[in-house]
Amino acid sequence: MSFAVKNLIGEAWTGANGTESAPVWNPSLGVELTRTPLQDANVVDQASESAATAFPAWRDTPPLERARVFFRFRDLLERDFEKLAQLISLENGKTRDEARGEIRRGIEVVEFAGGVPSLVMGQSLENVARGLDGRTIRQPLGVCAGISPFNFPAMVPMWIYPLAVVCGNTFILKPSERVPLSAQFQAELLLEAGLPPGVFNVVHGGREVVDALATHPRIAAVSFVGSSQVARQVYQLATSHGKRCQAGGGAKNFTVLLPDANPEAVARAVIGSSFGCAGQRCMASSVLVPVGDQIAPHLECLQELTGAIEVGRTDLDPAAEMGPVIGPEAKSRIEAAIDRAETEGGEVVVDGRGRQVSDAPDGFYVGPTIIDRVQYESPLLREEIFGPVLAVKRVDDLEEAVKLANQSNYGNGAVIFTSDGGAARQFASAVNCGMVGINVGVPAPTALFPFNGWNGSFFGDLHMQGTEGVQFFTQQKVILSRWAEFGQRRQGW
Ligand code: NAD
Repeated sequence: MSFAVKNLIGEAWTGANGTESAPVWNPSLGVELTRTPLQDANVVDQASESAATAFPAWRDTPPLERARVFFRFRDLLERDFEKLAQLISLENGKTRDEARGEIRRGIEVVEFAGGVPSLVMGQSLENVARGLDGRTIRQPLGVCAGISPFNFPAMVPMWIYPLAVVCGNTFILKPSERVPLSAQFQAELLLEAGLPPGVFNVVHGGREVVDALATHPRIAAVSFVGSSQVARQVYQLATSHGKRCQAGGGAKNFTVLLPDANPEAVARAVIGSSFGCAGQRCMASSVLVPVGDQIAPHLECLQELTGAIEVGRTDLDPAAEMGPVIGPEAKSRIEAAIDRAETEGGEVVVDGRGRQVSDAPDGFYVGPTIIDRVQYESPLLREEIFGPVLAVKRVDDLEEAVKLANQSNYGNGAVIFTSDGGAARQFASAVNCGMVGINVGVPAPTALFPFNGWNGSFFGDLHMQGTEGVQFFTQQKVILSRWAEFGQRRQGW
């Protein structure tokens, strides 16, 4: 398999126009797989010209025909499911099952996109006034751009481009420079599915390319997913240049645990949520908030199961339970956060620092870590660590738990584990975030619902996925028509 990182402009895979590049690691081994060119703004000019040229014909392609391309794309994703999963594990480091899970979620969006004819259908009313009929139609915007993060190399791009393209827009994807290969693979499948050249383009780079996408006059809308600081910056830049923008950011997700919940079920769900994808998920539970003084059995079970998690290579071993983090800086940053929490008085009850994997001594491994009795002032309760670190903050009652969660500047998800319906209801209503799990560790909605961040976890009005995604990628037109009475055409129209 070639690991050359290239742009897709029209139907041509082209080389880079920049001199700088960034490493693409195999995080399991800590060796470079390839490098991503960090290009200059010219590449956006070329890609947007290609996309703008392809737009008129694609806009006029009947929605059912556009949908058929995505039916074929779906079949190709199923055909190459394992190949793509292997590529994701290779460049991102997540386990094969985690990679499979994200492709499955992406496919669900493609399936949803296949319903485009009814999704973009408008409304009509006869006789809005006498002899006057009204109807609405939804039309595409033009050239749209998507900028994605490293942690879901397939799923996050697929939150964006299937709906953008099936609605009749043409598209430029700028994947994370850390995981460019899975994006290229998707582009190859789109071409094979019969997408006309220029409808989907791929460019690589860092800030210069992102800024160019957010400001280029040919681009109508920008979808961004990444850290909050960059999300805010891209949102401000794109909207100040007259573009639609939806920008998902980072998160700090709280999991409240009431003593009436089943200890083992909770432990398994929290482990999946906190340490799945090595904690590199914007829906990862990073703070556990046990309520009351009856939670010792829950915490013991959680510690025991966490201590037993096997950390290993994911590039070759499809059965590894937990993989490495994305790169050397991430490993150092996460371990430094654990050091700091310990200095502040937190008790590191499961310690993942310095984790070694025997056949991969240079891999970027951090084992799952639990820090108990974290102080109120600790940055662990406020800042996104984005690694396999779970802070435990014990509180006395549910009100205090909600208050703690609501102090966060973020607002992606919050979870409660309980067998008390009244407590769950109170929590779901009071917690200040966009996605709530009740006895569900990762309340990330499927393709049918919006991915619904609030506060500093999302900038914009319309979220990705679901009908909000369709609204984002289309604009509504209201058409009023009046015709002369039949037989009176000579006097009228
Ligand atoms: P990141 O912000 O570093 O990068 C995201 C994208 O922005 C990449 O394509 C990158 O090239 C580009 N970029 C980076 N710095 C930039 C800058 N200064 N100016 C312009 N563009 C820049 O994020 P990441 O480390 O790749 O991904 C992890 C982050 O993404 C976490 O904060 C995570 O919570 C967040 N995330 C959010 C969601 C969500 O739906 N809210 C989903 C997945 C990940």
